[in-house]
Amino acid sequence: MQCCDLRLELTKVMRILYERKYISSLSGNASVREPGSSEFWITPSGVFKGALKPSDIIKMSVDGRVLEGRLKPSSEWRFHAAIYRKRKDVNAVIHAHNPITVALTMAGVAIDPVTAEGILFLRKVKVIPYAPPGSEELAKKVAEGIGDCNALILEKHGVVAVGRNLTEAEAIIETLEDEALVHFIIHVFHALHS
Ligand code: 13P
Ligand code: ZN
Repeated sequence: MQCCDLRLELTKVMRILYERKYISSLSGNASVREPGSSEFWITPSGVFKGALKPSDIIKMSVDGRVLEGRLKPSSEWRFHAAIYRKRKDVNAVIHAHNPITVALTMAGVAIDPVTAEGILFLRKVKVIPYAPPGSEELAKKVAEGIGDCNALILEKHGVVAVGRNLTEAEAIIETLEDEALVHFIIHVFHALHS
């Protein structure tokens, strides 16, 4: 796939995530790379995320250098780069702010997949203890946590999903939020009937 297609794909996935309310105007980010490449494309920081253009996307190396682009890369570039360094099977990373997943985790409910789709796509979901957004500390924790799973919940913040391509990573973001909603309804149901 050509670089322009990957950049276009990134803008499309961000629009969908924005329209579905997994991210808001200035929150969330995503990146993608050619399989096996030591470079990746990432969304810009502090720019409206619902209507990005391919020319807004920045190219970086997995060791953290900006290679191309006129805007500032996402402030979370450290964990995107760290994931690509650690997981050769991963070619797409999405960070979203799934509201139900974040709220339920803050309420102390563990989101262990119970639905057929959740078990298939998510397998294991890990919670990463709070670290400030954009920090080296957060990148370190994410890189450690992503070693053996494809979905992380960042305490008080959001989620990180990885996949072999953007569609897989997006499916994880959506499945995780669906799973969180199912857990919420089960909890309410049990509370009302106990
Ligand atoms: P960026 O706009 O820098 O990507 O930050 C959004 C975000 O969600 C930070 O955690
Ligand atoms: Zn965030």
